[in-house]
Amino acid sequence: MDTKTVKAICLKTADYLDFDKMLLLYGLDTGKISAHIKGVKKPQAKLKFAAQQFCFGEYQLSEKNGRFLVVNCTEIESFFDLRNNIDAYTCACVMTEFVSVIGQENEPNASLFLLLIKSLLKLAEGVTPKLALTKFLLDAIKIAGFGLSFDKCNCCSSTVFSKLYIDKINGGAVCQNCKSGICTPLSPAVLNCFKQVDNTSLERITVLKIDIYLNEMLIILSSYIENLIKKLNSIQFLF
Ligand SMILES: [Zn+2]
Repeated sequence: MDTKTVKAICLKTADYLDFDKMLLLYGLDTGKISAHIKGVKKPQAKLKFAAQQFCFGEYQLSEKNGRFLVVNCTEIESFFDLRNNIDAYTCACVMTEFVSVIGQENEPNASLFLLLIKSLLKLAEGVTPKLALTKFLLDAIKIAGFGLSFDKCNCCSSTVFSKLYIDKINGGAVCQNCKSGICTPLSPAVLNCFKQVDNTSLERITVLKIDIYLNEMLIILSSYIENLIKKLNSIQFLF
């Protein structure tokens, strides 16, 4: 039986047998991994923390016939306090759901891994949850290959346009001449907010005062992701 240690975050958990759980982990060097963890529903289980969603730690896994069993875990950050704020918790769920959709087994993606950890840390610090989520989704769709650029048309590269539209079939933001039938127009105010979020690093995101536009921005991003990638079920609980 081989044993390895992976730095990973728990994206989601599911009950399994009477006292066990199945974990979907996302590892820095491994991508997605499903792992079985035994006995964690018993009251005194010492690895109970490792079977919590958002637990970030060094998971020690043993492998047998291609199946992984968690044999130990050293916690790095539990992110447990995210559960004290319903918006922060829901935004964290959307982030982990996105990574579970985009992430692949045996395909590590350090950019996506670090984006998730840094974004969860921002949520834990108390940044406006929907602002942190908007920044996360803009960066995450770039990693996924469907990034939005707000200063030129994604189709003809024109930088002179009266309006930009989100293209939900081909991806990207396009001008009035390139838009197809399934496009969402961006109002000048929302376009300006998207530009600001896109041009501001996650570290400095709190300087932005755009709270009244965040719902509209997230609805646009949610619909874009649903059309081009997959529906994010947890995002509906934000509105
Ligand atoms: Zn164009």
